Amino acid sequence: MNSDPCTEDRLAIVCPLCSCNSSQLLFRARSWESFAQDQVYEIRQCHKCHIAFTSPIVSFESLKLFYSQGLYGNKSNRFHILIEIAQQIFQWSRLRKITRVRQRGKLLDIGCGKGRFLAYAALHGWDVYGTEPSENSRRIACSTLKGRIVGNLKELPMEKFDVITLWHVLEHVSTPVEMLRQLHPYLKPGGVLCVAVPNLASWQARLGKSRWCHLDVPRHVFHYTPETLQYVLDLSGYTILHIDHFSIEFNPIGVLQTMLNSLGAEPGLIYALVKRNISWGIAKNKLRFLYSAIVAIVGIPFLILPALLFAYIESLFSKGGTILVYATPIELGQ
Ligand SMILES: [Zn+2]
Repeated sequence: MNSDPCTEDRLAIVCPLCSCNSSQLLFRARSWESFAQDQVYEIRQCHKCHIAFTSPIVSFESLKLFYSQGLYGNKSNRFHILIEIAQQIFQWSRLRKITRVRQRGKLLDIGCGKGRFLAYAALHGWDVYGTEPSENSRRIACSTLKGRIVGNLKELPMEKFDVITLWHVLEHVSTPVEMLRQLHPYLKPGGVLCVAVPNLASWQARLGKSRWCHLDVPRHVFHYTPETLQYVLDLSGYTILHIDHFSIEFNPIGVLQTMLNSLGAEPGLIYALVKRNISWGIAKNKLRFLYSAIVAIVGIPFLILPALLFAYIESLFSKGGTILVYATPIELGQ
C-alpha cells in the first residue's frame, strides 16, 4: 500500500507550495469586494505540506482588478482625522515591535505601500528603504521618501539591512520560498526578518470560517498558521526567533468585522465605509445596504469592546488573528 498522499489520484488541484495534487476542502468563501461577490473560492489544505491555499488561484491579470479597486484602491478615506490618528497608533505599534530586536539601523520594507511605516521609522532615526510594485503607491511613497523606494529588489542598491519587514505581504505571494530566499543576501549577519501574516489557526478564524475577515480571497494565495509559516521559513533557510500573537492594527478589527459578517452585514463593511466603497447611491442591493447600515450603527458601539477583549484573550493562548514572526537566516555550516 502506498502511503504517499500525493500519489493518490484524488483531485487535479495542485498545492501551489509543494505541487502535491491531493488536498481537502476546508470551506468555501466569497470575495468581499462588491464587484466580485458572485465569485466563490475554495480554501483547501494540502495533504502533504498542510498549508492552506485559495483555489482556484486567480491569474495575475485578474488580480490587477482586485488591487486597483476596493480596499486597495485609491479613493480617499472617509473620517480622515480619525483614520490619521489610528494610522499613527498603528505605525507606532509596528515600530515598537521592531525595536524589540533592534533599536536603530538600516531597515527594508518589502511591499511598503504608500510608505507610511517607513516614513514613521525614518522620523525615529532609521535608515529606510522600501520596495513597492504598485506604481501609484510607489509614487506616493516617493513623495516623502525620495530615492528610497524602488519597484523590486533588483532595483535596490546592494545594501545590507539590520531588519527586513513584510507586513501582510507573504500571504499574497504565490512563490513565498523563492521570495524569502532572495532576501538572504540583503540581511546583515544576525539580521532579522519580520513577517506578519493572518493566522488561520486563530480563534477568530476557526469560529468565523468563511466569514473570517482576514481570508481576503482571492488576493490571499496562502492562509498561514504558525506551523505552516515555520515550514515555509525552514524551506527558505530561516530559523524562527520569536512569534508575536497580538496586533492592535489587525486583530481587534478582524474579530469585529467577522462578527458583523456573521450578522449578515455587507462583508468587509468597516473597510468599505472607510474607503468610501459603499453608499446608498452605488449599493446594488439597497435592502442589504440598509440592513448593513443598521448593523454598523447599532452593532459597532456594542461590539467594539468585546472584540478588543476577544482579540487580546486569543493572543494570550497563542491563537491571535494575525502573527508576527521574527526569523534569522540559518548560517551555512550551522
Ligand atoms: Zn503542499
